Amino acid sequence: MSAGVRLVVLGKQGAGKGTQCERLSHRYAIPHISTGDMLRAAVRAKTDLGVKAAALMDTGELLPDELIIEMVAERLAERDAATRGFALDGFPRTVAQAEMLETLLDGRPLHCVIDLEVPTDLVLPRLVSRRVCQDCGAIYSLSARPGLGWTCDNCGGEVVLRADDTAEAIMIRLQAYERETKPLIEFYRGLGLLEIVDATATPDEVLRSTVTAIERRREA
Ligand code: AMP
Repeated sequence: MSAGVRLVVLGKQGAGKGTQCERLSHRYAIPHISTGDMLRAAVRAKTDLGVKAAALMDTGELLPDELIIEMVAERLAERDAATRGFALDGFPRTVAQAEMLETLLDGRPLHCVIDLEVPTDLVLPRLVSRRVCQDCGAIYSLSARPGLGWTCDNCGGEVVLRADDTAEAIMIRLQAYERETKPLIEFYRGLGLLEIVDATATPDEVLRSTVTAIERRREA
């Protein structure tokens, strides 16, 4: 299987975007670009962007498009993404962001857009039991813990409950998904790029279906 592919992974919170993008990143030797992880790193580093982002993120609201687009444009211009490709996780999240992405990708179009489909009643328990490494973003849960306490197996960082994985913020984030992000499914269907994957299965099964869809597109 050859390296390199340009992907967007869509899906509501808790659909498994982070887990699948991480695996796809190893499989295709591409960077996993998660705007949520980038923003959480900025919040911890207390950069200007991080200071602006923190309050909105904790409540579960989306950040303004301009802030996000600038951050993603810079990341996509880096050598790894520009030469090998990427798995975008958490971006785009609005039609305006998707339109801007099309402009940014001029000459190196997406191979496909994977929509990880999962019903809301299944994501709620997943989100409440989710724990993440605050340094590298690795994802764990109450039933799939790190080997040693709450210390990340990958990097030794502290594994914590995300500030926005509270019942209240989860509801606001799911509403934002329905209002702002769900329309992207039709947007990408219209561009002929959409691949729907059943994300209720195990992570290994979801990866298999996702890779099958990607390979079909790359061979086309
Ligand atoms: P995530 O880790 O993808 O769930 O993102 C966490 C939070 O970061 C979101 O609830 C938003 O507040 C913010 N965020 C991440 N990506 C975006 C985006 N593409 N547009 C707007 N806000 C974003």
